[in-house]
Amino acid sequence: MKIVLKNLTKRFPNRNKKGGADVIAVNDFDFEIPDGMLVGLLGPSGCGKSTTLNLISGLEKPSEGRIFFGEDDVTDLPPENRGVGLVFQSYALYPHLNVFRNIRFPLENFRGKDRLTKEEMEKRVVEAAKLVQIDHLMERKPSELSGGQQQRVAIARALVKMPRVLLLDEPLSNLDARLRLQTREEIRRIQQETKITTVFVTHDQEEAMSISDLIVVMKDGVVHQIGKPQDVYDDPIDQFVAQFLGTPPINMFDGEVRNGQLYIGEDKVLDVPGVRDGAVAAGIRPEGFILDYEGPLVCELTRLEVMGRDVSIIFKDEAMKGEAVRAIIDAKSRVDTGSGKVSFFLKPDKVHLFEPETGERLRFGKAE
Ligand code: ADP
Ligand code: MG
Repeated sequence: MKIVLKNLTKRFPNRNKKGGADVIAVNDFDFEIPDGMLVGLLGPSGCGKSTTLNLISGLEKPSEGRIFFGEDDVTDLPPENRGVGLVFQSYALYPHLNVFRNIRFPLENFRGKDRLTKEEMEKRVVEAAKLVQIDHLMERKPSELSGGQQQRVAIARALVKMPRVLLLDEPLSNLDARLRLQTREEIRRIQQETKITTVFVTHDQEEAMSISDLIVVMKDGVVHQIGKPQDVYDDPIDQFVAQFLGTPPINMFDGEVRNGQLYIGEDKVLDVPGVRDGAVAAGIRPEGFILDYEGPLVCELTRLEVMGRDVSIIFKDEAMKGEAVRAIIDAKSRVDTGSGKVSFFLKPDKVHLFEPETGERLRFGKAE
């Protein structure tokens, strides 16, 4: 089931007694979630992710715009008639019911032609429980389960209704780091097995990047970029997206372009044909540095961190933004720490330039 959002806007009245403008939580969303995909809705806290999800589920009414599931306009349908499965950060299981009855609960409310017999309900509950691998825990109460198991019950409870659309709002936030990793793989597997169109909300870029077919990066109610995770990482549309994606994050410098050459401080570091002269914000991904004695970017070495596969070089430069610059090179490279200086060539496709005022991307061509 594809989901189409057309000029979707949600305004909340400002409750500040002194007045002021409405909060625009979702600002003119216009995009399509293709059938059977897992889409990661990604952005910092307060950017409107939950509101977007609540509009899709019907828990909130839009101020403007329409929502379609396939060809059906569902904008005026109440949540219970939309065929959505919802999973939240808090599992909200019924504490006095065992796992079996928690999962069965939504089916007990089916009425009229949708009404199920006891046997049909049991079959569906067992299928959903198997899918999330908790079918051996049916008799337990929620208090007798780990956080990860409780979240699986919540997912099974959303799936048992055979929803047209699955909506997950920060479903891993209450889990510890290891369970978070494991459960996100589980969600991916379940989504691929069921092929239910899924929207997964998170503020954690790594989480979204690792399991999504497409990511939607948003800020302050506005969509900045939509694309495959790798494409968005490799080709960010603006400085916000470039800085939001990637661990360790992109390193930012004050740069200047003169005659198609990028300068960082007085070092002439890269050909950037086609970029206008003047100040730029220059972003360099940690993997964009090539350690070389003859490299044009010369910086002051702070320390080395060896972490298994990679070596991180932490260094300083007068033109850098933030505390330090981090380059990741492979562990074969030898770093001479004697001189206190490190020099680099830059990989052109790992360097992104932006307008300093607006953060708009400044694209450059390939060097001749
Ligand atoms: P996110 O899930 O990305 O953290 P939300 O969608 O919860 O963000 O919130 C987006 C913005 O809308 C925030 O500024 C928030 O304060 C505001 N907001 C959300 N719900 C309400 C509400 N019911 N009333 C007023 N403002 C709200
Ligand atoms: Mg939220």
